[in-house]
Amino acid sequence: MKPLIEKHVLKNAVDFGGKANPNAVLGKVLAEHPELKRDVPKLRAEIEAVIREAARLPPDEQRKRLQHLAPELLEQKEKPQEKELSLPGAVQGKVVMRFAPSPSGPLHLGHAYVLALNAELCRKYNGKLLLRIEDTNPENIYPKAYAMIPEDAQWLTRGAVSEVIVQSDRLGHYYGAAEKLVQLGKAYVCTCEQDTFKKLLTESRPCPCRELDAGQQHTRFDKLFSGYRPGEAVLRLKTDLSHRNPAMRDFALMRINDHLHPRQKKKHRVWPLMNLAVAVDDHLLGVTHTLRAKDHIDNEKRQRWIFDCFGWEMPVALYVGRINFTDMELSTTRTKELILKKKYKGWDDIRLPFLPALRRRGYTPDAFVKYAVDVGITETDKKVSRQEFFKAINHFNKEVVDSQANRYFFAASPKKITIKGAPEQRVKLHLHPDFHARGHRGFSTHERFLIAAKDLAALEERKLHRLMDCLNVERRGKAFVYVSREVERF
Ligand code: GLU
Repeated sequence: MKPLIEKHVLKNAVDFGGKANPNAVLGKVLAEHPELKRDVPKLRAEIEAVIREAARLPPDEQRKRLQHLAPELLEQKEKPQEKELSLPGAVQGKVVMRFAPSPSGPLHLGHAYVLALNAELCRKYNGKLLLRIEDTNPENIYPKAYAMIPEDAQWLTRGAVSEVIVQSDRLGHYYGAAEKLVQLGKAYVCTCEQDTFKKLLTESRPCPCRELDAGQQHTRFDKLFSGYRPGEAVLRLKTDLSHRNPAMRDFALMRINDHLHPRQKKKHRVWPLMNLAVAVDDHLLGVTHTLRAKDHIDNEKRQRWIFDCFGWEMPVALYVGRINFTDMELSTTRTKELILKKKYKGWDDIRLPFLPALRRRGYTPDAFVKYAVDVGITETDKKVSRQEFFKAINHFNKEVVDSQANRYFFAASPKKITIKGAPEQRVKLHLHPDFHARGHRGFSTHERFLIAAKDLAALEERKLHRLMDCLNVERRGKAFVYVSREVERF
């Protein structure tokens, strides 16, 4: 019996700082040899003796002895190494990153993955995380998202977002940069019909607007703001007309859109397109690294053209593949409709994969961070089913909650029982079995206890049962009889 006890004592000591917990060992021994329940006090005494003996060994001796007695237990402890994220060329304290969603709805699981990686990298390098709401397309805005996104982002990053920037509040910066590009002869206002322009572009030929002189370019630039109608003119960057990818040739920078902007109302009619706004902001805000979905790889090339025109230094760009959730609806447009039709109660309806709902379900932000770090920074797209995703996130959430949450009792549909002969005692329980410094809670117990109806039904007769850390009891018909104490000494 000694080796049986000793291996559990050593395992517990190795895992929890040198000294084993008698209750934990007792549980393990009884699980392996239930017949020992016949004489728990004796077993307990033996366990305590072995614990005292083992505690005298230095940690590496304990480990060695365990290796000899039960190597399989030692292996169990070696946790898989946590993956580490890193940023090329990052300097501690100097990293600036941004998470830049469009306000088309609240954040969903796809956003959570990218945001969590950004936040984790900023944490690692002691950097600054910006939240930039990219709302320069007046037609794709869900007004409530202006409040929901910062709230969700602060929750997910545990308040790590240091600044919230709204692009539609900053149009002056984009107009200024656009005007400068025109002055530099690098951008032009194009009034060609879409089809005509496309045809010329495919043939790598310049359109007539491109060739106009500086004075005319300037007048036309002013006319964007008053004069031209929506669709009549756009501002284009002069790139390389023979670029092998036609989508890189003279792409658009700004356009006119009269659509009512939910935040700016009728204040503006000229709107920068994403690449201009992103380039200007990444530069002005001092962004050093970007991490975003890999659908932006071509946009990075477009943004590089803009950076180069000004001689600005481009942030280091990293990409992640898409996580395609096979059986979860992440579309804000469709979800919005279903909410309006009352199929869902709101964005926090617990059936939805949006952050307000997941937060309400009790997921901790760190569970998402662990999930994101586990997936890592990879450009490979993944298919994940609802079931797979929740299995993973539940695992990570449990890891977080298990160590954070103190332990309290919960007895569902409690039933009163009386344990005849139980002593009057004062029982002290650790608030957390692994973190004793958190303190304890105390109970005065005597013969009367509450027990969950389901547990009560499962208690077999004439067998020893343990009310953990309190006492051992046997059931005899409807009655309960006290057998021995189970109280841990502090
Ligand atoms: N606003 C863009 C999006 O939501 C992101 C732009 C970027 O990260 O460069 O897809």
